[in-house]
Amino acid sequence: MPVESAASVFPQLEALLPHVQKPIQYVGGELNSTVKPWEECEVRWALMYPDAYEVGLPNQGVMILYEVLNERDGVLAERTYSVWPDLEKLMREHEVPQFTVDSHRPVGAFDLFGLSFSTELGYTNMLAALDLAGIPLEAADRTVAHPLVVAGGHAAFNPEPVADFIDCAVIGDGEQAVLEITDVVRAWKAEGMPGGRDEVLLRLAKTGGVYVPRFYDVEYLPDGRIARTVPNRSGVPWRVSKHTVMDLDEWPYPKQPLVPLAETVHERMSVEIFRGCTRGCRFCQAGMITRPVRERSITGIGDMVEKGLRATGFEEVGLLSLSSADHSEIGDVAKGLADRYEEEKIGLSLPSTRVDAFNVDLANELTRNGRRSGLTFAPEGGSERMRKVINKMVSEEDLIRTVSTAYGNGWRQVKLYFMCGLPTETDEDVLQIADMATRVIAEGRAASGRSDIRATVSIGGFVPKPHTPFQWAPQLSPEDTDARLAKLRDKIRGDKKYGRSIGFRYHDGKPGIVEGLLSRGDRRVGAVIRAVYEDGGRFDGWREYFSYDRWMACAEKTLPAFGVDVDWYTTRERSYEEVLPWDHLDSGLDKDWLWEDWQDALDETEVEDCRWTPCFDCGVCPSMQTEIQIGPTGRKLLPLSVAGK
Ligand code: SF4
Repeated sequence: MPVESAASVFPQLEALLPHVQKPIQYVGGELNSTVKPWEECEVRWALMYPDAYEVGLPNQGVMILYEVLNERDGVLAERTYSVWPDLEKLMREHEVPQFTVDSHRPVGAFDLFGLSFSTELGYTNMLAALDLAGIPLEAADRTVAHPLVVAGGHAAFNPEPVADFIDCAVIGDGEQAVLEITDVVRAWKAEGMPGGRDEVLLRLAKTGGVYVPRFYDVEYLPDGRIARTVPNRSGVPWRVSKHTVMDLDEWPYPKQPLVPLAETVHERMSVEIFRGCTRGCRFCQAGMITRPVRERSITGIGDMVEKGLRATGFEEVGLLSLSSADHSEIGDVAKGLADRYEEEKIGLSLPSTRVDAFNVDLANELTRNGRRSGLTFAPEGGSERMRKVINKMVSEEDLIRTVSTAYGNGWRQVKLYFMCGLPTETDEDVLQIADMATRVIAEGRAASGRSDIRATVSIGGFVPKPHTPFQWAPQLSPEDTDARLAKLRDKIRGDKKYGRSIGFRYHDGKPGIVEGLLSRGDRRVGAVIRAVYEDGGRFDGWREYFSYDRWMACAEKTLPAFGVDVDWYTTRERSYEEVLPWDHLDSGLDKDWLWEDWQDALDETEVEDCRWTPCFDCGVCPSMQTEIQIGPTGRKLLPLSVAGK
């Protein structure tokens, strides 16, 4: 459909590369990358992770979709990443458009431009890429000559702030969804593109699984709240459903992981060992929107690790999920893999681990073939009361026992992750983080008999997210966050006996407010994003590029026209009656259940994990026709039968 020339821009780009930092990131040709014949394909996707190559390349979501699409006959997918400002400037001067790294074709020449947003801080990078690609920023200004701009990833569960810039959004798992979209576009193209862009978007919207913002009108109340979001075309559903892939063993992707050319944030092979989490931590959007839990089988994991290692040559395997030690057969998985790869010295890592699911036997298996690096635990809340509010059922005793066993078994470094600004939190709750850290050091010294052990307390600001029980909660202002953390820092530093063994890392509260604005924003926030982009905003997830002052200045310029401001979106508590901007996007969670869980949080009442207790009716399984899939399967990882295949 796009009419723009699809010829490679590499000759023009090559001339610019000697003048930019890390030019290797723009040349493509990584091990396991794919370039399919352009002319022989009917549907062509450009896939973007809207951040720099070093962050974007290891992104599992994009890697999976890239492979799933390229396996299809007549379909191709290429990758594009955000270019750094040095190259952007040169590209603008020399009229080189946003390009894919695989065959260096202009993004504007593809049928679909899919962006995966794991964070809202990538929105300005999307606008930069659209503009560089020659694609009008506003969807309403695009014609049949432009690609369809498709948003996905966790941030797409509330795409309203970017509703004017995208053509459609997909919520939930992407594997099957991209193939369904591809089929609709392929059929429409084969028919000669009847009805143009509007028609293909209407066909997508009518599937019920693709959200097309232009087919919904948002009506507002005089006080600025939303009155309702209503379809403006017949046949378009009132609510758009999320996609859920059942049986991960049928989707063993990536089979051929990409091996980066330039340095990236993760230099390892990753295998997703399960998807979803039902622990019920109330702050955790990822856990809420990816329900239910679906485990990959132990044999499925073994097969993926073996094939992936052979395909890449990586020396480390990351076992990914939202809480990896919760896999019902994690002990057998870790032992089986450590045994199998003992001679090759392949290291294993579990990037996210819960204190109560962790045991030192497991840690010993994980480090048997590799380095014994630090351990990270995330109690999230400093006081027992706070942990009840957030439903993180970890007792201080559990934590101390686990951490001192780790110190006793030879670990010297432990990182403890907490949040500040949680609902109902007081200074006292946060100051208890210091008490916990000093107990960790005291017990650790006793268990290890050494005085050189260390703990680092790392603190992030809490941002209330859509589709969680905290979606109604007021966010703490940056001033209050900073003041609370300053008191904590003083308490830790003032401790003569243990303070020197405790590191303290925290970010100021300002970036969290911008994230909060974008997370719970509505269509009116699009004006802020555009103003920030036009003022030069890029790479907002990078401290050296992020400018709080710019965001606030642009918000002050644009939001008063709508009678709202940044506080209205962030520090304001919502009521039960309020229509939320994302209410028409169905994550499966029952809104009344979320509200009850919010009330339970305020009462400090905990909820169990439905993996091991009866279903507590969050709504996901019946509404999405899904179910919890967990082991044990009773199978063992060995014997090995996949080598050489
Ligand atoms: S519907 Fe029930 S079993 Fe399914 S995720 Fe929700 S609480 Fe768990």
